Amino acid sequence: MRSQFPGMWNLDGSPWGYLDTAATAQKPQAVIDATVRAMGVDYATVHRGVYARSAEMTLGFEAARRRVAAFVGATEDEVVFTRGATEAINLVANTWGVENLKAGDRILLSTLEHHSNIVPWQLLRERTGVEIDVCPLTQDGQIDLDAAAAMLTPAHKLVAFAHVSNVLGSVLDIGRAAELAHGVGAKLLIDGCQAAPRIKLNMHALGCDFYVFSAHKLYGPTGIGALWARAEILESMPPWHGGGAMIEKVTFEQTTYASAPQRFEAGTPMIIETIGLAAAIDWLDQVGLDVAQEHERVLAAKLRDELSRRNDVTLFGPADSIGIVSFALDGVHPHDLGTILDEEGVAIRAGHHCAQPLMEHLGVSATARASFGLYNDESDIEALLKGIERTRRIFGQ
Ligand code: PMP
Repeated sequence: MRSQFPGMWNLDGSPWGYLDTAATAQKPQAVIDATVRAMGVDYATVHRGVYARSAEMTLGFEAARRRVAAFVGATEDEVVFTRGATEAINLVANTWGVENLKAGDRILLSTLEHHSNIVPWQLLRERTGVEIDVCPLTQDGQIDLDAAAAMLTPAHKLVAFAHVSNVLGSVLDIGRAAELAHGVGAKLLIDGCQAAPRIKLNMHALGCDFYVFSAHKLYGPTGIGALWARAEILESMPPWHGGGAMIEKVTFEQTTYASAPQRFEAGTPMIIETIGLAAAIDWLDQVGLDVAQEHERVLAAKLRDELSRRNDVTLFGPADSIGIVSFALDGVHPHDLGTILDEEGVAIRAGHHCAQPLMEHLGVSATARASFGLYNDESDIEALLKGIERTRRIFGQ
């Protein structure tokens, strides 16, 4: 598997111990090739050209939308291309949110949310006077849905939770969250950034109303992601960005807008990135999401097991975390650990992981985080453990 990923090798030909897939995944050669082709011999604009290359590119671009829709068990008119999950959440806040929420309405988030599922709602609060509530976590780092049940009221119009925590690897029971949200008449938005590369998704079976993810965590390019929303919700949402491609007819007196999803895709789209995303999905489908999930579950369990044998390590998150292991080494700042590990050829993430409220809840300013992708194997865990040993020696007992 590793051999398919040029990014997993150092220039001298030795393997790189990349353990930061939760931040972004390395790309398989198939995705690099598809992207290069789209930028080279296949390149032209979409939707406008009268020449054959543009017509072909348009077919490829729209096929990519169908590919993404099929990947998440949706229809193509429900998939909006965005620059990533962050932009997708901002899109919902600035369209559905501005249209439907008013002062006194409430939004329920959770303690473990990524900043991109907190700040857009705070910006909406400044504009509309909507109130934000925060659902606490269980002892082992799951969103506490019993607490959510007790907190939700008819004033809640939106619940926005992560499917998989980017720090703890904990997995949300979306079915129950949807039941609770819909029980009070609220919509449910799911941040699926860490789930899409690991969990087979079916939008209609999940029961949520909005779902967002980024391609770069899915072995695809940066600069592209998707918003899925139920067709009837999407159709009712006003546009956000204005410009070419999102209109039906423009006059200086009045402009009418295209139907969804084009209404939300102003300007020349991310053509190359979209083709790259479709190639990543093709690649991942060939491997199998069940294989991806099991591979990462086994590696995460193995690392948790190894770390739990040490009496100088604190582990965060549930025992069955998927693909992500956050921890602290007693008396060593995660940044120092990360720097020493880098000297050993091992790349982990050290910091707040764009989840400062969660860090506050855990009582730390930062954690060390190792996260796995399909290209990792036990040798990466061994290298990490060796690096931890060396760090321990440098810092003393
Ligand atoms: N939510 C989660 C859970 C994430 O892990 C990330 C990326 N770290 C994001 C949202 C934001 O994704 P992006 O930066 O690709 O928009």
